[in-house]
Amino acid sequence: MASVLVIGGGLAGCTAALELAQNDRNVIIVEKSVTIGGKVRSYGCKATDRCNRCGLCLVGDLWDQVERHENIEILTGAQVVDIMGTKGRFTVIVKTHGYVDTISNLDHIVVSTGFDEFATLSSGSLEFEESKYIITGSELERLLSNRGKYHLFPNPPASVGFIQCFGSRDIQEKAAYCSRICCGYSIRAAKVFREYYPDIKITFFYMDFQEVEGQDCFDDLIRDNFEFIRCRPVSIKAGRPNLILYEDPEDHSLVEESMDLLVLSEGIYPSRDFENLAEVCRLGLNENGFLKYIENPRQSGIYLAGCVAGPRRIEEVYAQSLQVAREICGGIL
Ligand SMILES: Cc1cc2nc3c(=O)[nH]c(=O)nc-3n(C[C@H](O)[C@H](O)[C@H](O)COP(=O)(O)OP(=O)(O)OC[C@H]3O[C@@H](n4cnc5c(N)ncnc54)[C@H](O)[C@@H]3O)c2cc1C
Ligand code: SF4
Ligand code: SF4
Repeated sequence: MASVLVIGGGLAGCTAALELAQNDRNVIIVEKSVTIGGKVRSYGCKATDRCNRCGLCLVGDLWDQVERHENIEILTGAQVVDIMGTKGRFTVIVKTHGYVDTISNLDHIVVSTGFDEFATLSSGSLEFEESKYIITGSELERLLSNRGKYHLFPNPPASVGFIQCFGSRDIQEKAAYCSRICCGYSIRAAKVFREYYPDIKITFFYMDFQEVEGQDCFDDLIRDNFEFIRCRPVSIKAGRPNLILYEDPEDHSLVEESMDLLVLSEGIYPSRDFENLAEVCRLGLNENGFLKYIENPRQSGIYLAGCVAGPRRIEEVYAQSLQVAREICGGIL
């Protein structure tokens, strides 16, 4: 039976691994953290009185299926330190909790180590102090994941500001690209806030807007009393309320706005260890610092799946990772 090594057991790695296992491949997942699932494992449903199509339902019982499948072995707390050989005869050195192991006779390798959230790396060019009234997109996801039937917050805010493009579209942060996911999750979350607290004031401080659910929903949102201020905030003074200083887009004067809660809509950022990973996997980095697409993975036997290659939504990661697994199954060794 052909064997595949999957590096990174998030949504991409697990989707590919399950598809491969169901097609009679032996799969070994090398996962750095203590559990599989990656980022989406801590995300929450963003339904209001209807499903807002955040994509999370696609995950279903993926983690359970992966953990239970007899063709899949999961090594947690593990990292690949070296790869030798070629397609059909890869030998990989894996370090697990300080112990070094060699895995031989691997036919293919799927690299699916995902991304880092911007706020774990930097506070960006925006100056502010840490405060419990300023949360990141990832903290927002955890909040939604733990939401109760009637309350989101013990002490609900009267106003919430979303700082869009936090760490994205920012040349200073070497992230001139759009992360593609933060408009979607922040708008869906704002709708959830509004459903819990109908009188809450919600303002987006934004530079640009992506389509959500395949449509430009800007007009609908304005009609529903969401406010939009086109600017890049200059500074934030933390507190309750937080004070946001921004440049008026019309007359360029400095304006101050107060918001009880601020959400930093962080995007998808290349991981700290991509340079090392690229070297180990004999790959390059693209202009945004993600792993560079492999021209002919069938020849090299090394495939990329998920956000390791750049920003992608859950649906896209799921579809692309399935495609990778099917390509491996359809490929001739
Ligand atoms: C705040 C936020 C909210 C989001 N909300 C949505 C949403 O509502 N809808 C949507 O469609 N998309 C959303 N996204 C995008 C979504 O998070 C990604 O599409 C998805 O997580 C990508 O999965 P992945 O497996 O590629 O990466 P990850 O989830 O990052 O998984 C990578 C895995 O690899 C492991 N790993 C990392 N490095 C190594 C290594 N060197 N060796 C071994 N293992 C390693 C990690 O521990 C992790 O388990 C959101 C993104 C952010 C930042
Ligand atoms: S998790 Fe997302 S896709 Fe599923 S019901 Fe909730 S909003 Fe809809
Ligand atoms: S998805 Fe929206 S918030 Fe995120 S970087 Fe793109 S435009 Fe900015």
